[in-house]
Amino acid sequence: MRVPMSSPSIGPAEQQAVAEVLATPVLSMGEQTTAFEEAVRHFSGAKHAISVNSGTAGLHLCVRAAGIGPGDLVLTTPFSFVSSSNVMLFEQAVPVFVDVDPRTGNLDPQVVAQAAADLSAGGAAAQRWLPRRSVQGGQLKAILAVDIFGQPADFTSIRQTADQYGLPLIEDSCEALGAEYRGQLAGRLGDMGVYAFYPNKQITTGEGGVIITDDDQAADFMRALRNQGRAPGDTWLQHTHLGYNYRITELSAALGRVQMGRLEELLRRREQVAAWYQARLQHQPGVELQYVAPDTTRMSWFVYAVRVAPGVDRDQLVQRLLEARIPSRPYFAPIHLQPFMIERFGYQAGDFPITEDLGNRGLAIPFSGVMTEEEVDIVCQELARALA
Ligand SMILES: *Cc1c(COP(=O)(O)O)cnc(C)c1O
Repeated sequence: MRVPMSSPSIGPAEQQAVAEVLATPVLSMGEQTTAFEEAVRHFSGAKHAISVNSGTAGLHLCVRAAGIGPGDLVLTTPFSFVSSSNVMLFEQAVPVFVDVDPRTGNLDPQVVAQAAADLSAGGAAAQRWLPRRSVQGGQLKAILAVDIFGQPADFTSIRQTADQYGLPLIEDSCEALGAEYRGQLAGRLGDMGVYAFYPNKQITTGEGGVIITDDDQAADFMRALRNQGRAPGDTWLQHTHLGYNYRITELSAALGRVQMGRLEELLRRREQVAAWYQARLQHQPGVELQYVAPDTTRMSWFVYAVRVAPGVDRDQLVQRLLEARIPSRPYFAPIHLQPFMIERFGYQAGDFPITEDLGNRGLAIPFSGVMTEEEVDIVCQELARALA
C-alpha cells in the first residue's frame, strides 16, 4: 500500500457541480463565483468575501490595499510558506522578520511589540531589526501574521501592537480555515484575512483563495485589482488601477461551493485522523507532537507535523521512511534562508534561531481527511521502525 502525502476529498457532488458548469458557456465571472463567495462570507461572518485564483494572489491584494509600497517595512514571520513574505517583495517592500514562539511556531507577540516600538522610534534601535542589506529609512507600515499549521497566531497582543502604532493587520489564514482563537474564527482576527484552497488545504478549489474583510473601501479596491484594475463603472477596456488577472474560474468556484457545504465534515475527518496519530505517537520516543495552545479553541488540522527530538538525524529518518514507501517532508524551510532572500537581504544562518531549530526538526508525515485508521497504523509502525 502506498500512502500519499496528502489527498483532497472529492465526491460525486463535486464531480457533478463541475460537470454542470462545463455544460454552460459561462466559465468565468458567473453565478458559481458569486455563490462560492457568498458561502465563505456567510461562514466567516465577514462583510466581504473576494475570491481569487490563489492564496498568494489574495495576500498580494491585501498588501496593495494596505498601501504597502517601495521601501516600506512589514513585520512578519520567517517560519511560514514563502509566499507570505514574497507578497511584500512584489511591491519592493521589506519583510522585517521577528522570531517565533518555540511551542506554536507562530509569531512571538512580545518580540513583535518590541520590534514595532524600536522601528517606530527609528535610529539605532530600529537598525537591529532590519536585514543587513536593505534600504535605510523605511517606514513601518503593517503587520502580517500567519496562522501556522492551522493554529491561530496570538492575535490579542498582536492586535494591541497594531492598534498602538496604527498599523493594518493582515492575517494569512491560508492554513487555518475553520480554526478558532478564543472562540473567534481564524481569518477574522486581522483587518483582512486570506484562505487558500490548493489541494492539500482543508478544502480545495484546485487552485484558489478568498480574502475576507469588513472594510468596504479595501474590498472595492481588491475586487477591482483582481479584475485587471476595473473599478465599479469601468467598461471592459477601462482600467482605473494597475490590476491583475487574479480571477477564479467557474469550475474552481463550483468545486469550492460544494466543499464549503462539506466543511464541517471535512474538518471533523481531519480531527479524527490527527487524534489517531496522537494516540499512537504520544509515547513514541524520538518525536515531539504538535503543541495546541489553550487559546486555540479549535485547531484546524492542516498538516500533521512532528518534531524530531534533538539528536535525531532527520534526513536519515526521511530516507528510511522513503524506503518503507512512506513520504515525509521537512516543514518549514525558514524563509530567510531561501537563496533569493540571502542574495537580496544578506541573511545568515543563526539570524532567527528558533525558526531555524523548528525548521531543522519539523517533519510533516502523510495527512489528509481521507486517510484511514489502517494507513495511520502503517505510517506509525514504519516511523517507529525508522526511529529504532
Ligand atoms: C498555502 C499557503 C499560502 C497560499 O498558497 P497558494 O498556493 O498561493 O494558494 C499562503 N501562505 C501560507 C502560510 C500557506 O500555507
